[in-house]
Amino acid sequence: MQNTEYKLYIDNVIRRVEAARLKVSAYHIVKIVAVSKYSTSAEIEKLYAIGQRAFGENKVQDLKAKAVELDALPLEWHFIGNLQKNKINNLLDINPALFHALDSLELAHELQKKLQARDRTLDVLLQINSAKEESKHGVLPELACGIYKQIQKECPNLHLKGVMSIGAHSEDKAVIKKSFETTYEIFKACEGATICSMGMSGDFELAIECGSNMIRLGSVLFNK
Ligand SMILES: *Cc1c(COP(=O)(O)O)cnc(C)c1O
Repeated sequence: MQNTEYKLYIDNVIRRVEAARLKVSAYHIVKIVAVSKYSTSAEIEKLYAIGQRAFGENKVQDLKAKAVELDALPLEWHFIGNLQKNKINNLLDINPALFHALDSLELAHELQKKLQARDRTLDVLLQINSAKEESKHGVLPELACGIYKQIQKECPNLHLKGVMSIGAHSEDKAVIKKSFETTYEIFKACEGATICSMGMSGDFELAIECGSNMIRLGSVLFNK
């Protein structure tokens, strides 16, 4: 796509986000994390040139490669994928702005140990498996608040900022909506939570209407 065509295309996505957030309230601000996992560094630069700053990757090695390649730009990197224990050090080397997918107390304790050794902190979101799907990571909704509190108490180097969830895998809008509502209720119940990360290309308007204030957009933003 030509640059002007590309800008019109992005403007359209932003208009959709605007319309959805205004349905909630004029004060409801939604942050867009551009998920660049299917995209090249050149495509990231194009999006940066029209004002996008926050980018997300779901593999530690891809995040590292792109962060190094685009080191000259003041980008804010988000890690949105699931983290294997043997990749913790690699992730901490990159020092991402936010890790969205903390999915167990055990991983929290591992991260705490490594962060403490480095005398560092990390901003994280607790991933919730709101629709209780086998295929998804995350803590069960009924355990989420307890685990959230326990991490706050036991992992001082982890700064919990809120929750993250992937909408239910379903054709039925009511089922997806219910999964977002479940996540939002947990978000409201967790003390100090300010970020509710939910909504992707196929369901971001619904997620915003259910209270999301951070959406992770890949295919719809990069025209994939
Ligand atoms: C890939 C991915 C996204 C973006 O997906 P799209 O449907 O392309 O918008 C969002 N969140 C996570 C966790 C992802 O892995």
